[in-house]
Amino acid sequence: MRLVTTDAIVLRSYNLAESDRIVLCLTRSSGLIRAVAKGARRMKSRFGAALEPFTVIKLSFHEKENRELVTMSSAEIVKSHFDLNSNFETAEVLAYMGEMVAEFAPPHEADELLFRMLIACVEALSQRKGSERVLTRYFEIWLLRLAGLFPDLGACTKCGAELGPSDRTAVDAELQPRCNKCSPANASLLSSEAMNIIRSTHQLSPLKFAENHLSESQYAEIGDLTHRLITRAIDRRPRTLVAAGR
Ligand SMILES: [Zn+2]
Repeated sequence: MRLVTTDAIVLRSYNLAESDRIVLCLTRSSGLIRAVAKGARRMKSRFGAALEPFTVIKLSFHEKENRELVTMSSAEIVKSHFDLNSNFETAEVLAYMGEMVAEFAPPHEADELLFRMLIACVEALSQRKGSERVLTRYFEIWLLRLAGLFPDLGACTKCGAELGPSDRTAVDAELQPRCNKCSPANASLLSSEAMNIIRSTHQLSPLKFAENHLSESQYAEIGDLTHRLITRAIDRRPRTLVAAGR
């Protein structure tokens, strides 16, 4: 049995037996883990409020070879995000981010960039009120990019022509970019504004990106692309989007 101590963020938790909880966490050193928190539902649990969704914690757990579930030994709060869960709009975005990370992160495999991206998005949500929509798009683009699933929008996949900042871009059935000349008849289109917003995610932190205002149509255009990419990657529509009627 090995004791591991690492930074982690709680994604969600559910009840187990009479007094325990299973907590799904994204950890810095071990990626996605499912941890049993023994006695977490008792009044005087040593875990206290540390297992609330999206709390950043210093987590210690015991790992057994060939066992997927680990046993939580301690969880100290580094940063509580209680306020985020009590706001309906933010809680909805967090539930979506949690669902997506649980889908995309391979279990027990460290992904430093994904870990940092998620923490930075949650922090930006908490610092900048009303940034739920713009940060949802930022999160989706980076989630896909880190998984190697976001298309390179720099050039047309058919003829190789460079796609510049004033070009409208078509997205073909394979979800790859095409220039105007090579655009198939049924392609969906990304305006040059939407393209530039997507490009800017490369340079900007979530907090900086959250200063952007996305119009209704830019939000929808980018969402059309990210949702098609996500649906293709996980072979279904995200549950949280379906529940929210999106
Ligand atoms: Zn072309």
